[in-house]
Amino acid sequence: MKVIVIIPAAGLGTRMAAVSGGPKSKSKQFFELQGTPILVHTLRKFAQCNAVSEIVVALRKNETATFQKQIEKENFRKPLRVVEGGEHRQNSVANALAAIKADDDDIVLIHDAVRPFVDQETIVNVIEAVKKYEAAIAGVPAVDTVKQVERTADGAVVIATVPRERMVLAQTPQGFRFGPLKKAFEEAMTDGFMGTDEASLIERAGGAVHVVMGSPRNMKITTPADLELAEFFLALENRDVSLSG
Ligand code: C5P
Repeated sequence: MKVIVIIPAAGLGTRMAAVSGGPKSKSKQFFELQGTPILVHTLRKFAQCNAVSEIVVALRKNETATFQKQIEKENFRKPLRVVEGGEHRQNSVANALAAIKADDDDIVLIHDAVRPFVDQETIVNVIEAVKKYEAAIAGVPAVDTVKQVERTADGAVVIATVPRERMVLAQTPQGFRFGPLKKAFEEAMTDGFMGTDEASLIERAGGAVHVVMGSPRNMKITTPADLELAEFFLALENRDVSLSG
């Protein structure tokens, strides 16, 4: 049984670009942390994982050549392929799925390019949960009180308070069996449904998605302020590696 990892990395990162120099600045997965692009940090995590058989990265066409150069000196020791990304995250993942040859029972993990601090334990826990339950995601409990709002011209108005103990914030990796995932993507495409994660496609197809504990460090680097925290987490990781070595 194979475990194939899809890394959607074709976003424009408009929330980053809006504050960091306009649309011409590089997309967030190519921002560097200690001289290495965020995307490469993320790929290293999956390349290190013994259970992973191959990796497929979805990229914007104009970033592919730069990317190939950036990974030349990395010794990933796993097959790594690039496919072209699409307009939305879901299209990028669909393009990667279309490029994969796998059995229906093989496992596909999808992980945001901009979550470089995922740990090995989380990756393995998601894989194990997929073996047991067919579909699983990493998630963290909501610590803040969650409000449902209605957007207004000058902000938002609360319309309900959602019971916090029943809320989980979805992270990645999100893992599924290849067959049902492909079917859920086809159904979503036919219905014109666009989700912000893969689990939502499985949910609407009637599948149960299990949650394994993620980690607050497994943050999604989205805004310039996140980069400061990311530098801090990277320093902690380097310290942990030097302590264990
Ligand atoms: O935009 P969002 O924060 O949801 O992006 C999550 C991940 O999906 C990022 O790694 C981003 O590069 C990727 N993405 C993509 N193709 C798009 C939009 C986002 O691969 N069209």
